[in-house]
Amino acid sequence: MYTLDLSDKTGLIFGVANKRSIAMGIAEQLHRAGARLAFTYQGERFRPQVESLVRHMNDPLLLECDVTRDEDLERTFAAVKDEFGSLDYLVHSVAFAPRADLENPYRDTSRSGFRIALEVSAYSLLPMARLAAPLMEGRNGSIVALSYLGAERAIPSYNVMGTAKAALEQAVKQLALDLGPLGIRVNAISAGPISTLSARGISGFSGILKVYEERAPLRRNITQEEVGSAALFLLSEMASGVTGTVLHVDAGFHSTAF
Ligand code: NAD
Repeated sequence: MYTLDLSDKTGLIFGVANKRSIAMGIAEQLHRAGARLAFTYQGERFRPQVESLVRHMNDPLLLECDVTRDEDLERTFAAVKDEFGSLDYLVHSVAFAPRADLENPYRDTSRSGFRIALEVSAYSLLPMARLAAPLMEGRNGSIVALSYLGAERAIPSYNVMGTAKAALEQAVKQLALDLGPLGIRVNAISAGPISTLSARGISGFSGILKVYEERAPLRRNITQEEVGSAALFLLSEMASGVTGTVLHVDAGFHSTAF
């Protein structure tokens, strides 16, 4: 197995809620490769959980951050600057839509639900990139965001989250263009379904897992570790020529029609 030495690298990870979080799979891979990591959590009730999950890592930094609050984002990046001095990696693994808007017919999506879903799940990448850029300059920084096939295809019950993922994927490309001259790369991983807290909010989620098992070319679902290793690739110098792309880590499901 190819081993990477990231012991002189730092990363900031948004989106660890519990051990099943996709962000946790990514964090473990970066940690194993030697990177020092900072984690944000959404509100104090998440802190003890995140603290116990990352305790084994190399002096992790824990910061409270609600991505809808500019002051939280600014405080987070200021703390990263104080503690790390610079930043190599940023992981955006954050999404939210109000439950009603994932349950009602898509045409009934509320104005506020649409705004919230797009703000949390897509817009938030922009201020993160803006604040990360000065910390990444001269370091070949790399940003990865998490998407889903619902960005490209209509998927039952995924509703406004699909609209938000479409915006997120376009934002990844637009940011890649914006930040490329600074040597910063921006990519997305379109992950197959994984049973996490957020995923269980999508009605019929277990049916989606079953469809992948039956129809994906690999005839199975993917794991958190597989998303983690794809993220490690995209974040690291192994992907130095890759930016503005969406890498599907979904057992090939996106490539088939039946
Ligand atoms: P998760 O519930 O573990 O993670 C979602 C995270 O978003 C949580 O840590 C939550 O605290 C955070 N979050 C939500 N609103 C926030 C806010 N206002 N401020 C700060 N943080 C906020 O679920 P997950 O499945 O690991 O989701 C991570 C990412 O992966 C999401 O973008 C999700 O859409 C994407 N994704 C998930 C799947 C899947 O099947 N699980 C598939 C493809 C993509």
